[in-house]
This record gives sequence, structure tokens and C-alpha cells, in this order.
Amino acid sequence: MLLGIDDTDSKKGMCTTYIAAVLVERLQSYGIKGYSRLIRLNPNIKYKTRGNGAVAIEIEADEEQATEIMDIAVQTVEELAELDDPDTNPGIVLLDHVPPEVEKFSERVVRDIVTIKEGMDLAKKHGMVHAFKNGRGVIGALAAVGVSIENHTYELMAYRCKERWGMPRRIDKTSVLEADQATYPHTWDTVDLANDVIVFSPHSPCPVLFGIRGDDVDEIKRAFKMIKSEPIERHIVFKTNQGTDAHLVYKRIASAKNGRSYVLGGTVVKQPHSIQGGHVFFTIAGNGHKIDCAAYEPTKNFRDVIRKLCVGDRIAVYGGVKDQTINLEKIEVLSLEDQFLVRNPICPKCQKRMKSSGKNQGYRCRKCGTTSREEEHIFVPRDLKLGLYEVPPCARRHISKPLIRMTGERIHPSR
Ligand code: ATP
Repeated sequence: MLLGIDDTDSKKGMCTTYIAAVLVERLQSYGIKGYSRLIRLNPNIKYKTRGNGAVAIEIEADEEQATEIMDIAVQTVEELAELDDPDTNPGIVLLDHVPPEVEKFSERVVRDIVTIKEGMDLAKKHGMVHAFKNGRGVIGALAAVGVSIENHTYELMAYRCKERWGMPRRIDKTSVLEADQATYPHTWDTVDLANDVIVFSPHSPCPVLFGIRGDDVDEIKRAFKMIKSEPIERHIVFKTNQGTDAHLVYKRIASAKNGRSYVLGGTVVKQPHSIQGGHVFFTIAGNGHKIDCAAYEPTKNFRDVIRKLCVGDRIAVYGGVKDQTINLEKIEVLSLEDQFLVRNPICPKCQKRMKSSGKNQGYRCRKCGTTSREEEHIFVPRDLKLGLYEVPPCARRHISKPLIRMTGERIHPSR
């Protein structure tokens, strides 16, 4: 049986992954199959609390035990979810297999926007459903069960003892840096060295102490053993679509819609410029359509790369669209336009720089009177290489693929 759960937390507390960890313990007597799943859904959804995550657990049970299992899940959600928060609308689904239409629906939940009714109808058609309040969580619960994640990574989540929830987290920074050093690139996004921040631990009042992400479970566990911290109540390893770019769709600029994430190709038509607050904007165009691109202040040193782009450069931009602007997660520089510094010409007789004779009037040597209409064009080498660039770990979306996971391409990983 496949049990999916979503929308149990609020900004004030709880985390759906914690409920999954508790449920794995409570359902242990049936037998838990493989790793539980942590699925990141469309990161542009306005209803999300934080990372738009949902969870699914595979249980060694059959349909006769479905009611019992559903009861345990409902009781656990009632006990732990932030039900008093008006924006918390938990959903639980239980299916015995994933039919193709559930798989298709789930892919849309990762990349598109769906309705509560669609989720509810489909969940009822193929399994059992328990919806709290407006039932929005059924969307994510069903998607967590249905998403196919052949291309997956892992995250080990460690949780705090209840009496410490809401208090400052105690984690030894040196041990985190050492664990990262010892296991990177099999683990990633634990620290952001360029910005000197530990990024694997949240700052919210939720039960999560930290999460170690990576491709290799043994290396993740090795890092876990090295980290010194306050006491850990429990931990769990999830199989996940984090770090996979599952949210991105390759499209033309004209088809880009708000609330979805894309890879769009185009040519820079408006030079990057900074506005108050440190946000950097520029515009690309392709096939007769334009889109504004933004590297916001939290993307830190990524903006230094963006500022080097020039009109005429061919690039691909990766990110989510909001208010007709793509919020950049990555860019690929495909070709660079030659840049020249335009200067007054040098007099061929006197070897002195000529003076302008006025707007559109050409140039004239002050000494000998020689005239010219041709400026001098000095080639300026570009301080930017072709290839893929990304936001630093401190600005990474959970679902975005870190460049260090890519092979074969020209990559410039941020670390
Ligand atoms: P956390 O990461 O801490 O679990 P969260 O960021 O996942 O929190 P939720 O509290 O789960 O946020 O809220 C997201 C809500 O949006 C859920 O009810 C989920 O079912 C719904 N949702 C997720 N993806 C979509 C989508 N593509 N279309 C419509 N609704 C969605």
C-alpha cells in the first residue's frame, strides 16, 4: 500500500517529513518497503509553507489492512498537524498501486497548477482519501505517491527533541564543515562556502534539526556520524526528487506562463542593470518574444555572473516565472558577443588621438587638420566563460539540480 501525506505544517511549526518519520515507526509492524519518499512539488505554488514538499510511505500490507492503516495515519496527523492554522489543510491518500492517470496527474503537480477537485476525484477513484478542512493537501499527498522518480537523490533528515522545538539550534559548525569536506560532492548543499553559511539546517520553529542531501546513502550516513549537535530524537533517509530539476520544462519564451518553471533560450537584448535592494534585471528575446529575467539579492554572488552578460550574448535561462519575469536559478552561456571599446581614431601622420568635429561630423586632427569618419574599435576580451552557472547553495530551491551533479557539460558549480 502507498500512503501519501501533505499540508500538515504551518510557519509556526511542524513538518510533514516529521509526521512521515513518526508514521514509519508506528507502521513498522506491517513492514516498510524501501526508503520513504520526499517529493518536492511545483515550487511556485502560492499555498506552500516553505519548500512545497509532500511524503509517501510504501507499506507491506494489503487492501484488508487499508482501513487500519488509514486510521493510524489520520490519528497521527490529528495529533501532530498544525490544524488550527487557517492555511493548513492536510490530505492523506492510500492506494495499492499507481495507475497511469495518477502518474500523469503527479507530473502536473510538480510542473503545473491543479485544482483540489481534480486531486480529490482521482484519489477517490483509485484509493482511500482523508481530507481535513478544504482538503488541499490531497493534491500533494496523491502526487507524492504517484510521481515517478527514477532520477532521484537522498536526504537524511534529523529531528530535534520536542522540548527544544522553537529554541535556537545547537550544531557545531566545525564538524559540519569537516563532514562536508569529507563527503562532497557525494553530499551537497550542506554549506555555502562562498557566503560562509551553513545551509542544511532551517531557522523555523519546525522539528527539523538538519537534512543532509546527496547521491550516495553511505556517504550521507558518514557525514551524519561526523556532525556534532544537540540530541537527535530520530532520523530518517528519504528518497527524493530534490536536486533533479524535475520542475523544469523546455519551452519557447512565448509559451512561458506565470507559476511554472522553464528553460528558455534567447539572446540578451537589454543589458543587466541593478535596482535598489541589489536585484539585477535584464531581458532576453527569441522568436519575436521577450521576457525579463531577474537575479534577486538573495542569489548573492550569482549576480556577479549576470552583470557580465552583454547585449547579443546567446543564453538559456532556468527558473520559475512570476509576474512575467523569470526568477533565475541557473543560466547557460551559449555564445558571447564580441565587445569593443569605441574611441576617437589616431591621426596617421601625428600619431595623436583626433578630436570630434561635432555630432555625426567625424574627427579632425588638431595639429595637422587630417580628418576621418572612422572610430577606432578596441577588442575587449570577455571575463565570462561559456557553460552553466547557478545560484549559490544558500539560494537554491530544493528541487533545483546542483551543477555538481551534472557531468559532461561545461559547468561552473557554486559552492
Ligand atoms: P513543507 O515543505 O514544510 O512540507 P510545504 O511548503 O510543503 O511545507 P504545504 O503546507 O504542503 O507547503 O502547502 C502546499 C499546498 O499546495 C498543499 O496543500 C499541496 O497539496 C498544494 N499544492 C502543491 N502543489 C500544487 C500544485 N501544483 N497545484 C495546486 N496545488 C498544489
